[in-house]
Amino acid sequence: MNPTTSQYADVILPLPVAGYFTYNVPDELSGQVIPGSRVIVQFGVKKFYSALVHEIHDRKPEGYNTKPIECIIDVNPIIPVACFPFWEWIAGYYHCTIGEVLKAALPSGLKLESETRINYNSDYTEQSEKKLTPREQLLFDVIREKRSLSISELNNSVLKKSSIAVVKDLLGKGAVSIEEEMKESYRLKTESVIELPERLRTEKAMNLALDLLKKIPLQQKLVISYLELSGILKNGTEISVTKKELLQSTGISVTVLNGLVKKNILSIIERKIDRLSTYSGEIKEVSELSPAQTDALNQIKQSFESKSVTLLHGVTSSGKTEIYIKLIKECLDEGKQVLYLLPEIGLTTQIISRLTRVFGDKAGIYHSKFNDSERVEIWNKVLNFGIKNTGSSSESDYQLIVGTRSALFLPFQNLGLIVVDEEHDNSYKQYDPSPRYHARDAAIILGHLQQAPVLLGTATPAVETFYNATSGKFGLATLNERHQNIEMPEIVTADFKDAYRRKQMNSHLTPLLFAEISGALERKEQVILFQNRRGFSPFIECKMCGWVPKCTHCDVSLTFHKHNNSLVCHYCGFSTNHPGTCRTCGSKELTNKGFGTEKVEEDLQVIFPDAKIDRMDLDTTRSKRGFEKIVLRFEQREIDILIGTQMVTKGLDFENVSIVGILNADNLLNQPDFRAYERSYQLMAQVGGRSGRKNKRGKVIIQTSEPTHPIILNVINNDYEAMYRGQIAERKHFKYPPFYRMIGITLKHREKNELDRIAQELSTKLRERFGARILGPEYPVISRIKTMYIKQLWIKIEREISVVHAKRQMQEIIDQIKLHAGNKTILIAIDVDPI
Ligand code: ADP
Ligand code: ZN
Ligand code: ZN
Repeated sequence: MNPTTSQYADVILPLPVAGYFTYNVPDELSGQVIPGSRVIVQFGVKKFYSALVHEIHDRKPEGYNTKPIECIIDVNPIIPVACFPFWEWIAGYYHCTIGEVLKAALPSGLKLESETRINYNSDYTEQSEKKLTPREQLLFDVIREKRSLSISELNNSVLKKSSIAVVKDLLGKGAVSIEEEMKESYRLKTESVIELPERLRTEKAMNLALDLLKKIPLQQKLVISYLELSGILKNGTEISVTKKELLQSTGISVTVLNGLVKKNILSIIERKIDRLSTYSGEIKEVSELSPAQTDALNQIKQSFESKSVTLLHGVTSSGKTEIYIKLIKECLDEGKQVLYLLPEIGLTTQIISRLTRVFGDKAGIYHSKFNDSERVEIWNKVLNFGIKNTGSSSESDYQLIVGTRSALFLPFQNLGLIVVDEEHDNSYKQYDPSPRYHARDAAIILGHLQQAPVLLGTATPAVETFYNATSGKFGLATLNERHQNIEMPEIVTADFKDAYRRKQMNSHLTPLLFAEISGALERKEQVILFQNRRGFSPFIECKMCGWVPKCTHCDVSLTFHKHNNSLVCHYCGFSTNHPGTCRTCGSKELTNKGFGTEKVEEDLQVIFPDAKIDRMDLDTTRSKRGFEKIVLRFEQREIDILIGTQMVTKGLDFENVSIVGILNADNLLNQPDFRAYERSYQLMAQVGGRSGRKNKRGKVIIQTSEPTHPIILNVINNDYEAMYRGQIAERKHFKYPPFYRMIGITLKHREKNELDRIAQELSTKLRERFGARILGPEYPVISRIKTMYIKQLWIKIEREISVVHAKRQMQEIIDQIKLHAGNKTILIAIDVDPI
């Protein structure tokens, strides 16, 4: 029959179309099209796209003629085929297209849309044997004039349809090249390191200098401490000392150091700590573990023998990170890759500086605030490590990645361990756009696919996780003591309702919290205050008629931000000036209702005029390094009181915090959500965990009107398991996860009536199929966002029922609804395991 078998390539297109598309591999490209590399294909009448090759095979598709692959972009794969099963799982489980996974996975610098550019090659000189044809010359002139042309511009170019073929010829003649667009140069993150000037590096010179400092004992002490820490004058081996380390270990203020810098006795240099550069510091030994830590490590190792996932349940500051470091080291020594996930970008800096001291250049960071070119660079460093044996790898390739959720998609092919730190954290869930994945759950699958054990770590496990760990699905290791026997903080409540009644409140502070803060300030200790609302006041209200300004695009009141006298919508970003007078009755009496972090900051500055007060919330951390800067200033004790939202509760490690205040715990407990109590516990226990120092017990003051609320009592007793038992019983009784799976369906429409009608139609159809498993439709608390009305439905599915089957049925019903002529403009999003 056919002597040579034709080859076909299934490709992924960067479009919201389901499934793979098959093209034939033309003879001249035979053997050159490789899975995991990009090619250019025609899709639709005239459009060309770059696409990712998924598979090469010889199965001729039935029922249509394939188009050929036009040309090849990559000679080597940009993604190992080992990653595809993970992509497929994400698409299948989270119910989205493989194209959507591709969009989430690839850094935009590698994306396949119109970013792919054809560049003019300035070195090109026409050689007689490779003369350009008139058509080639025409396109070449266009490209030369513009320097570069994107695929989409090419689609509209002078030559239209055949231009891709002409590009191919120009490529062959070396007149143009294909390249990714790289934008914006990158500023490396740095840490301050202390240095001793050359002239002082002899004992004689040093003694002279110290003599001169006799009259300024603090400066002298600081220099001596530096000499001890760095070991400079001892045996020649010099350990670098950061500004932070020096100040922390001595407890001496930064002004003393600045005085020494002025005198040129010490200097401060900025050292890069991001792993896009070579690590110049020296490698430190891994810390010795305490007996309790060693025990936990052994529990983990034992668990890894039989379980693919293990939970490390260790109280705050128990040294979980030190345990991770041990495990990571062993894994790296075996030549395997490690992925270390963190919920927040802000945490990566603190952790990476700990990791690079141990692992040097092998460690890299990955998160969404990197720009395209950096992300491509990190991508390649991970990719190259994986293909080390081919010889293209270099010393600076990354074996260990610390990253936020999107780091899951880096091109790993040889993972030996995945750590999911603070596994309970909500930031692991991607809300928008699709794929709406949960990074912890996806990490478990990734680990399974690459046969790498997965370690989940936290002081406050998600209820689902603890259920899995105690029912035998996951292993469990426990660490109940803090490092160096620092005591767990003392936690007390302060009844603010009562204090209000007695007129004892000092702004937002009960007498107790006020006294504790004053005490801490006197002792030069630091304070963290947690308030889960940003801005000045959540809304303003007219005293005369009750008018409340609302967002014109969303069904929500506008938050007053005093620093720029504006009213801001926290859902769509809409912003307007404070009106000054009531728009309804003209009264001038507009009062601020409730309080956010900005108001707390302002009021506290009045109460404690000498304290250095700062604020950590979305508004103060928007810039690329905003979060990090505040953390650094706090670490270096340039801030006495730090007020913050959720952000201050995350696993930051501070040494000098003695008092933590939770300004209003009622706000947390009264959320309309089945996870509200669990989350309240986690937030309070975590923020409380920031307090406590060597030889001194920390204290947490929870302001609430319900001091005997069961969750508050659980927090006070540091009794995670009691909280868990209460919550798991409720989950079982009310049919929530982990006993039932949930799928959320969100409908959005500009017209309220249309939304109501379609939501009703959908829920009726779903009920016919799923019965009482359907909840809703309901308006969420905020029922309109960005001019779209919103309704939600949920399906609760028993664990025993095939979720694949249920999802298919659900999709069929949604497709039917969407087919109706009147329903075209509805937006329907599916969220598997919503949180
Ligand atoms: P966790 O991750 O459990 O909150 P960390 O690993 O951040 O705890 O440890 C808290 C602090 O104690 C850190 O500053 C860490 O450097 C220190 N620490 C913990 N264990 C050790 C150890 N074995 N040797 C030296 N320092 C330790
Ligand atoms: Zn009014
Ligand atoms: Zn809005």
